[in-house]
Amino acid sequence: MKTDIKLIQDGKRLDNRRLDELRPIKIEAGVLHRAEGSCYLEWGGNKVIAAVYGPREAVPRHTQNPLRAIVNARYNMAAFSVDDRKRPGPDRRSREISKVISEALENIIIVERYPRASIDVNIEILDAEAGTRCAGLTAAAVALVDAGIPMKDIPVACAAGKIEGQVVLDLGKDEDNYGQADLPIAISPRTGQILLLQMDGHLTLDEFNQALDLAMKGCYTISEMQKKAIMEKYQKVEEVK
Ligand code: UDP
Repeated sequence: MKTDIKLIQDGKRLDNRRLDELRPIKIEAGVLHRAEGSCYLEWGGNKVIAAVYGPREAVPRHTQNPLRAIVNARYNMAAFSVDDRKRPGPDRRSREISKVISEALENIIIVERYPRASIDVNIEILDAEAGTRCAGLTAAAVALVDAGIPMKDIPVACAAGKIEGQVVLDLGKDEDNYGQADLPIAISPRTGQILLLQMDGHLTLDEFNQALDLAMKGCYTISEMQKKAIMEKYQKVEEVK
């Protein structure tokens, strides 16, 4: 990918961030009344709602697993979330993102506790500005906690990438478009286990290790914000009582 845009100037990025700095993040748990659990998350220019339904009997019945629950994450981009109107409905990209998020969550939810059930996780992208799969998974994790779904840990996601030959944290839109690589990951912060890892572009082994390390650090920072959002929700519940 070649570009005339200068993505780094005097050690700062287009939006004035340092190379290892995240975009601003805001997380709120329990924003919807009819979902079992929900979360609203802003991450730079991304705005995301996640809503959890279930565990409930999986239908159609042939999808049921007698030994465990199935996890259906559905990632959807609103038509108005991107510059060019997005054609409504699932496309190849959103199916892929739904699949990798479902698999990441299945590995952290204690699915054996709910045989024959399905746990449905809806991720709606209202505004998109790069990094929506990480924002979606991070919001889904908070919504799952809000729904009281038992998990081994609270998963969290973040990306690192390469722009102008330098490894940086959390690519913005222009950096994603004109940069050289993007490495989104999701982890279990308690164990460091990797739940999702994708890569777009090219990195040397050294750069890959550097990017992985940086994305992990981002994950740990965001993990604290997730916990704070959950605590705030329960503080509010306490106050109302
Ligand atoms: N995007 C878009 N139209 C689409 C799909 C994506 O404009 O149909 C934009 C959107 O801002 C998205 C970005 O491209 O966040 C990067 O997309 P990518 O597939 O890398 O996934 P993401 O980084 O959002 O996880």
